[in-house]
Amino acid sequence: MTIYQNFIAGEWVGSDATKNINPSDTNEVVGLYADGTVEDTKNAIAAAKAAFPAWSRSGIWERHVILKKAGDEIMARKDELGALLAREEGKTLPEAIGETIRASQIFEFFAGEALRLAGEVIPSVRPNIGVEITRDPLGVIGIITPWNFPIAIPAWKLAPALCYGNTVVFKPAELVPACSWAIVDILNRAGLPKGVLNLVMGRGSVVGQTMLDSPDVTGITFTGSTGTGRRVASASIEHNRKFQLEMGGKNPMVVLDDADLTVAVEAAANSGFFSTGQRCTASSRLIVTEGIHDKFVAALTAKLETLVVDNAMKSGTHIGPVVDEKQLKTDTDYIEIGKKEGAKLAFGGELISRETPGFYLQPTLFTEATNQMRISREEIFGPVVSVIRVKDYEEALATANDTPFGLSAGIATTSLKHATHFKRNSEAGMVMVNLPTAGVDFHVPFGGRKGSSYGPREQGKYAAEFYTSVKTAYTLA
Ligand code: NDP
Repeated sequence: MTIYQNFIAGEWVGSDATKNINPSDTNEVVGLYADGTVEDTKNAIAAAKAAFPAWSRSGIWERHVILKKAGDEIMARKDELGALLAREEGKTLPEAIGETIRASQIFEFFAGEALRLAGEVIPSVRPNIGVEITRDPLGVIGIITPWNFPIAIPAWKLAPALCYGNTVVFKPAELVPACSWAIVDILNRAGLPKGVLNLVMGRGSVVGQTMLDSPDVTGITFTGSTGTGRRVASASIEHNRKFQLEMGGKNPMVVLDDADLTVAVEAAANSGFFSTGQRCTASSRLIVTEGIHDKFVAALTAKLETLVVDNAMKSGTHIGPVVDEKQLKTDTDYIEIGKKEGAKLAFGGELISRETPGFYLQPTLFTEATNQMRISREEIFGPVVSVIRVKDYEEALATANDTPFGLSAGIATTSLKHATHFKRNSEAGMVMVNLPTAGVDFHVPFGGRKGSSYGPREQGKYAAEFYTSVKTAYTLA
């Protein structure tokens, strides 16, 4: 089998490899992907550092053309790359193609941004002095990504990093290297000069840690768990380095008595269970007022009955497998914890077998949960959702905000008054009215508050806040 190698200083290198396994069919090896070493990582950082002076001064048309070509190729190959994504991560083929299209759109957006780089010219408070405010690239950006969005998250970090003139060392999650390898191959063929983009696949404790420990990495953008995020933060403070963290969530969706039941059930089913609940923006706490509670639970349970859990590549599958055995154990452990805590298992909770051996779990719904239970406070990151019954809107809002996290929050209501109040008073970075808490646009800011995020927002024009450093220059006329 071919080994998909690391890409360092413009060369494909490395001979040790790890198997990339399909979670829908554990007999299938998606490919063999390089297992990077400390030395590989150091070489990649050195290459990115050497390439920075030239790339940071490259013309905006060159950057535009490369990013545009990459976006166009990803779009042209959306079915093939979507299938690769579905096979390595386990989300359904339509979800995976959708994610691939989004990756292409992100490259298109930043291809446009490259042509719109601008600063400000402002008069000084002193006569005959001019002030210019410009944005400089940071230098070498370390990109560390999780397994749950194998093409979109790399795209939303790589495209702005390159657009604003930075060079990159990129470490994708070891579980899902295939889409990352494909994007790097595409960007290389689109014309990136040697050393501007370096890919080092391998373990976080080896490759990622070497990036954290290097004083030559001037910025780190990280998406992943809270635990690893804390390591990124402390290592970055040690090196006085800029960093950005996107971490977990325990996203609430409030359902009020006056909600449109169909809208509420569709939003809850989508954001709780699609992509196997493995989205940082998934709704894992459904906070439902008592007047609609029983009707809502009955309708959601009826909806869950219709959802097909099966091989991600099979047509008709609504929910693919859990990503791997370790995550499956986390999910089933939390199901046991929920039962022991006294929540009522209203649906699912069982492992299931399918034609191909994979990590299949029924969508699982707990009712009669309280907001103090571990299943309501800790991120599970699987298709496991709790319903918490509350008296009224005021209790619903307080419960929604009573969490260490603050990524996304939703409300299903037909009341303008409550929708408006919720938008203003939710302690989340993103608020959805009559929409799933997951499912965001690529051209507007993405990120959370409290324990979910740290540093500037990602995506859209706001990405410049992280990937550049502002300079203020004064000139005597
Ligand atoms: P992890 O934190 O385990 O991993 C994230 C990345 O960090 C991986 O590439 C991992 O490498 C790497 N890593 C692990 N250890 C180190 C280290 N010591 N130094 C540097 N890098 C390291 O998270 P998961 O991949 O398990 O992702 C799931 C988590 O991510 C969930 O908690 C989820 O909520 C969160 N997430 C948040 C999002 C957001 O935008 N807020 C979006 C998506 C996910 P490797 O795995 O290869 O060892």
